[in-house]
Amino acid sequence: MSLLEVSGLQVAYGGLVAVRDVSFAVEPGQVLAMLGANGAGKTTTLRAVSGLVKPRAGTVTVDGSDVTGWSAERIARLGIAHVPAGRGVFGSLTVEENLVMARYGAGLAVDGTALDEAYTTFPVLAEKRSTTAGTLSGGQQQQLAIARALLQQPRVLLVDEMSMGLAPKVVQDLFGIVAGLKDRGIAIVMVEQFVTQALAVADTVVVLEQGEVAHAGTPAELGADTIAASYLGGHLPEVDSVPPAFATERVAVSLQGAQVRALERLAAARGVTVDEVVAALAGAGLEGAS
Ligand code: ATP
Repeated sequence: MSLLEVSGLQVAYGGLVAVRDVSFAVEPGQVLAMLGANGAGKTTTLRAVSGLVKPRAGTVTVDGSDVTGWSAERIARLGIAHVPAGRGVFGSLTVEENLVMARYGAGLAVDGTALDEAYTTFPVLAEKRSTTAGTLSGGQQQQLAIARALLQQPRVLLVDEMSMGLAPKVVQDLFGIVAGLKDRGIAIVMVEQFVTQALAVADTVVVLEQGEVAHAGTPAELGADTIAASYLGGHLPEVDSVPPAFATERVAVSLQGAQVRALERLAAARGVTVDEVVAALAGAGLEGAS
């Protein structure tokens, strides 16, 4: 019996089937990276797990209990916390008010110990406790969003696009925090466009393509080629619309030898230049092949 198990999940928005037959499981202390191009169904999958959308078919179980179709509030109380893309902090409240609200929202007492723990994990939030959340930097807001989720004492953390719009150094720090949560036994399902970092911390990977699981396995089993090819599938036609400067800037961040060779093979297979592949990857939001 897994801590969280999703089986045969299908979600539709009216006539559009956004997720079809998606299955995966996570255990305590494991990180599952959910990857895939824009529109592949990653966010919808997370929303179905946390009860924000109702699945059309399939099951979600927590410790073997079927929670499919439960309200978001009931699922949250089971210890499934969701950090949405865009962070969802209350911009006009202070850092401390945001933390207190999260605690109340989960039906838990607001005690100094819980807040102190949050401040120990995120020292910058202690410094900024009286600052209005809306004036924090993006990275600080993301830390606040994760701290809010942790105050719900989760066993599973669903984190959507944690790194979106953040500088590489800030992203690196956030991944350090995620590694610490894993050590505390929290299971994490992360939707992430910074693929290299996600693979470094993940125990298992699920790659979605058009709402379906295209690949699943450990990072070593999947390999960079498979994952890059999955992103390229839907995006090569858009190569011309990606500003080259943007692509170059992204790629300057992190290409390594094996990834360069993977790019060369992909370019050859598709009859395009490496630069075009790189631009397509950047357009798909894939963090640089370095
Ligand atoms: P992204 O990285 O762009 O968020 P994603 O992999 O998270 O992509 P989803 O956001 O889950 O993908 O979207 C899957 C499909 O469902 C897409 O075709 C999207 O347009 C559609 N979709 C998502 N949310 C809604 C909604 N509220 N109403 C209708 N269609 C939606």
